[in-house]
Amino acid sequence: MLDIKNIHKHFKGNEVLKGIDLSIEKGEVVAILGPSGSGKTTFLRCLNLLEQPDQGALHFTDGSLDINFAEKITKAKELQLRRRSSMVFQQYNLFPHRTALENVMEGPVVVQKKSVAEVRERALKLLAKVGLQDKADLYPSQLSGGQQQRVGIARALAVEPDLILLDEPTSALDPEWVGEVLQVLKMLAAEGWTMIIVTHEMQFAKDVADTIVFMDGGVVVEKNNAKDFFDRPQQERTKQFLMQTK
Ligand code: ADP
Repeated sequence: MLDIKNIHKHFKGNEVLKGIDLSIEKGEVVAILGPSGSGKTTFLRCLNLLEQPDQGALHFTDGSLDINFAEKITKAKELQLRRRSSMVFQQYNLFPHRTALENVMEGPVVVQKKSVAEVRERALKLLAKVGLQDKADLYPSQLSGGQQQRVGIARALAVEPDLILLDEPTSALDPEWVGEVLQVLKMLAAEGWTMIIVTHEMQFAKDVADTIVFMDGGVVVEKNNAKDFFDRPQQERTKQFLMQTK
C-alpha cells in the first residue's frame, strides 16, 4: 500500500533518522521497537508531516499520492496525507473543552467538511466500538486515562484513514488501563486496519504485529516477521535489547 524511502531527519546538527525505509501492505500491523532516543517517534511524526523530513519519499502504490520530502510540500499535499493517515498520541491530545463525541466529530466536520448529522451518527458508532457508548457527553477530565485514549482511537478512526499511526499509545497510562486499550488495538488489527505502532509492550507486539522493525541510533537494525524476530533475532544489538526487556 505504501513505500517509505530513505527518511532523513536532523535537529540542530543531530541526525536522528539516517535513512529509514519501510514498505507496508494493506492490513499489515507493524510494531516499531527500540531503545529510548532511537528515533521511533520522530519517524512516526515524519510520516504524518508533524515533522518535516530533510529528505526521503513516500509513495502510495496505487499511484494516488507521492511526496518527495526534499521538495517544498504544498498545503494540499499535506492535507491529502493527513486525510489518509491519522495519529494516536501518547498523551491522547484531546480537546479539553469538547466532549468525547465532539472530539471524535472534529476531524470529519472541520477538516473533511462532512455533514454534522452524518458524522454524529458515525462518531456514536465509533464510541460504541471502543466501549464508550455511555460516555459520549463527558469531557476528557471526567474520563479515565484508558477511556481518554479510547476516545483518541475513535477520533483517529473517524476520518476513515488508510493508515493509523500510534505513538506509544499505552505508555502514559496507569497499568490498570493498559489492558483495555491494547484490547481495542487487537480488535482493530483483527478487523484489518493498517497500523504502525511505536510500543514498549513486547507481548502485545508479539501477539498482534505482523512485522517488527527494531530501530537503534536512527537506523533500522533488524526487520522481520514477529515470530522470527522474537524467536530468532539475527543482530547482536537486537539480542541484547530483547534480553534487557525480558
Ligand atoms: P524515541 O521515540 O525512539 O525515544 P525520538 O524520536 O523521540 O526517539 O528522539 C530521537 C532523538 O531526537 C532524541 O535524541 C531526541 O532528543 C531528539 N529529538 C526529538 N524531537 C526533537 C525536537 N523537536 N528537537 C530536538 N531534538 C529532538
